[in-house]
Amino acid sequence: MDAAADVLVLGSGVAGLSAAVHAANAGHSVTVLTKGELAHSATRYAQGGVAAALEDTEDSPELHLSDTLAAGAGLCDADAVRVLVSEGPDRVRELMALGAEFDRTGDGETAALALAREGGHSVARVVHAGGDATGAEIERALVAAVLDLDRIVVREGWLALDLLVDDGRAVGVLGARPGAEPTEVRARHTILATGGAGQCFEVTTNPALSTGDGVAMALRAGVAVADIEFMQFHPTALHHPSMPRPLLSEALRGEGAVLRDERGVAFMAEEHPLGDLAPRDIVARAIARRLNDHPDVEHLWLDATSIEGFPSRFPTIWHACNEVGLDPTHDWLPVAPAAHYLSGGVCTDLDGAATLPGLWACGEAACSGVHGANRLASNSLLDGLVFAKRAIDAIERGKDGSDETGVMRGVAGLPAQQARPADPEGAATRADVQRIMTRDAGVLRDATGLERAGRALATLPGPSSPEVANLLAVSEALVAAAFAREESRGTHIRTDFPESSSHLLGRFAFVGGDAPTFVPLAAPQPEPAR
Ligand SMILES: Cc1cc2nc3c(=O)[nH]c(=O)nc-3n(C[C@H](O)[C@H](O)[C@H](O)COP(=O)(O)OP(=O)(O)OC[C@H]3O[C@@H](n4cnc5c(N)ncnc54)[C@H](O)[C@@H]3O)c2cc1C
Repeated sequence: MDAAADVLVLGSGVAGLSAAVHAANAGHSVTVLTKGELAHSATRYAQGGVAAALEDTEDSPELHLSDTLAAGAGLCDADAVRVLVSEGPDRVRELMALGAEFDRTGDGETAALALAREGGHSVARVVHAGGDATGAEIERALVAAVLDLDRIVVREGWLALDLLVDDGRAVGVLGARPGAEPTEVRARHTILATGGAGQCFEVTTNPALSTGDGVAMALRAGVAVADIEFMQFHPTALHHPSMPRPLLSEALRGEGAVLRDERGVAFMAEEHPLGDLAPRDIVARAIARRLNDHPDVEHLWLDATSIEGFPSRFPTIWHACNEVGLDPTHDWLPVAPAAHYLSGGVCTDLDGAATLPGLWACGEAACSGVHGANRLASNSLLDGLVFAKRAIDAIERGKDGSDETGVMRGVAGLPAQQARPADPEGAATRADVQRIMTRDAGVLRDATGLERAGRALATLPGPSSPEVANLLAVSEALVAAAFAREESRGTHIRTDFPESSSHLLGRFAFVGGDAPTFVPLAAPQPEPAR
């Protein structure tokens, strides 16, 4: 066992790498433990960009705040969103100072950042790189910064298995390299930045590594987890057998692309005043309902033929379409929803502190309350940047545990849940979990399906690997919370409870045990007009 680092970061996406850079720059010794190569993450797949109200535009943090609250469908924590939108612009500028190159309009001294508009945003505020390769550029810049800093030790190919807890404090993790015995990796502070859990479903935009490991570790340790029923389904994944599903970014609709039904009729104008630029949950619901009504139809269409300069503006999407024989300038593109973003996760206060002293969470693994029931497009890279920095600043100030702010208000950690450990002889596979979740816990849910999913997950044989055990733990929590939330709100759509309920303005939190506890919002917001 090596000497304990000051800060142990689990994961090397935008959140983990940002935390590592800030911690090292503040003089801490840092270990980054990541289960693949350093540059492997969901971050590098991000297309559209980073939303931030930068200077010299018609935009403002207040406007970004109101768009984020509207998308969140009454469940955002307004204080957390205020932090996100007010500190976000500085974090984007820091990324540029680190070397991330965002697209610009014009040349030389007069070149301004090129800003795109996406669904749910009332103005153009999304910075992007390489057209639609924003995540790859951010990951590149952050990996280079990490490799430049002597205080950071990188351990690639290490799977974090479980949190180490001594005397009620997180002190690191049990980790393993392939084929080696698990080893303790100790640290004064442990940061969960392990990303999302799209792999709970058969059809997802997330890479194979997005198995909800950090959330599952938190559940097993009795650390509070909330909002797990709010899995965001991206409305426009390319309908094609490849996995992860190629994403057709919302920015396409920002540039004029139009959704068409199975007969070729544009339909979003009848669904929402913002039409094709409606919030993501509204668009996913509109598509899922049409597919549900016509079981013989597998996809609808995205008509992007009006977009000028498609290959240079969206090179990643252009390439993905060409690979499957589609030319977006002539062909309508087949689309269907795919699991995309986990809005809930490990409960944190406004500094990223979890309910266990010494434990922090940021990025998609965390639930700081900024996304509520539905994440606004391009707010998640920003979330990772902002709350990673806040966690390190708080550690700098000597903070050790959470205070009762943000999503944490009224939520506490309790004794650990009984989770099923991985069993080398076990038979349940990733595909088993995905099949159950896709059939009964996807975009449209009801009590009968969720009950069936809960029973099917509970009767699976032992999970065949630690990642399958984690998928199973997150899926069971998702199904339990989705069953308990008897309403439709944001990305959680119950066909048996089609309206939102004013009695459910709060979170279903797991604080030990298998059943979620309802925690009313400390400061409810007015229900947004949707
Ligand atoms: C196709 C696609 C397009 C997107 N487009 C956008 C966009 O335009 N704008 C936007 O804001 N967001 C976008 N998103 C969402 C955004 O990319 C993610 O939410 C964000 O990158 C998550 O960052 P993260 O650092 O939290 O996690 P990730 O980037 O997923 O990184 C998680 C890291 O943790 C590691 N890890 C996981 N488990 C373990 C373990 N047990 N042990 C060790 N290491 C572990 C992984 O290997 C990985 O390095 C998109 C997502 C996808 C999939």
